[in-house]
Amino acid sequence: MINVEEYKDYYFSVVTELLRCPSPSGYYREIAKVVEGYAKELGAAFRLTAKGCMVLSVKGKDSSKKLGLSAHADTLGAMIRGILPDGQLSFTKVGGPQLPTLDGEYCTVMTRSGKRYTGTFLSKSPSSHVYSDSATRPRDDGNMYVRLDEVVASADDVRKLGIESGDYIFIDPKTTVTESGFLKSRFIDDKASVACFITLLKIMKDKGLKAAHDFDMLITVYEEVGHGAAYVPEGLASMLAVDMGCIGSDLNCTEHDVSICAKDGHGPYDYELTTKLINLAKENNLSYAVDIYPYYGSDIGAMWTAGHDVPGALIGTGVHASHGMERTHFDGIKNTIALVSLYLGI
Ligand SMILES: [Zn+2]
Repeated sequence: MINVEEYKDYYFSVVTELLRCPSPSGYYREIAKVVEGYAKELGAAFRLTAKGCMVLSVKGKDSSKKLGLSAHADTLGAMIRGILPDGQLSFTKVGGPQLPTLDGEYCTVMTRSGKRYTGTFLSKSPSSHVYSDSATRPRDDGNMYVRLDEVVASADDVRKLGIESGDYIFIDPKTTVTESGFLKSRFIDDKASVACFITLLKIMKDKGLKAAHDFDMLITVYEEVGHGAAYVPEGLASMLAVDMGCIGSDLNCTEHDVSICAKDGHGPYDYELTTKLINLAKENNLSYAVDIYPYYGSDIGAMWTAGHDVPGALIGTGVHASHGMERTHFDGIKNTIALVSLYLGI
């Protein structure tokens, strides 16, 4: 069994770098460069598909079959919907961020020519001293806007900066690692898993470990909008999606466990593969939980809907307050990396 504990600092440095690199669904070139750098350093072949998915390929002891892994590098975000007459910005969501949690959050607008301007998401009744409904006005995209940190008083002033409808708005992730081993940040879903893959490659390289079979790590960039793994590499015997595990209500998972999803909002995962993962977790004394995710879809669903005849399962570290201010713990990360390594026969 691999020892993940000694890679704690490495993991946190990789995940922090990924989290600070903006990548709302569809905007992938910056993060693809970061991942490509790690792939090269760690001996994985790297290619970018035409649509922007990253594929990291690694040879195993046996090349007669190939296993698949997937995680997604895209995150939630927003895009400018319109420029208001007073020079502030209306916006549309990219994916499903919980809008009440965005009230007061810092952000960065990026123009199509690459200029960046900072701003803040706010309620349209932002001041307690002026608006009687400042606490009660709905926090939705009709009642919120982005205040730009530039001297602007009209839509024309904003356009002079090069800002237009359709420009991306990156939400600040506020990434923090605590002494007690917690990672708190936006977009742990799913950069925590991308960092798990990189850390596993690092462990394999350092220790000279090989997987039982060849494998491809697919890192998708449209998962949050539903079609991330619509493309998968040819010839996969199975696909294990590594994405956030759900926590709350009557679910079993905590931030210290690897969650194994039996069924999500779209239906059950592959029975044999899921059972195999549960048995591997049990036999190796991993801290794990089997759960149903009520309002959830994953890249396995995208893969199946696109017509690929590949069995698929889903695991991931337990993530608290998902699509809001998320948090997980290194314990959950450790158990996730261990279960991925067992799936690969390392
Ligand atoms: Zn996710």
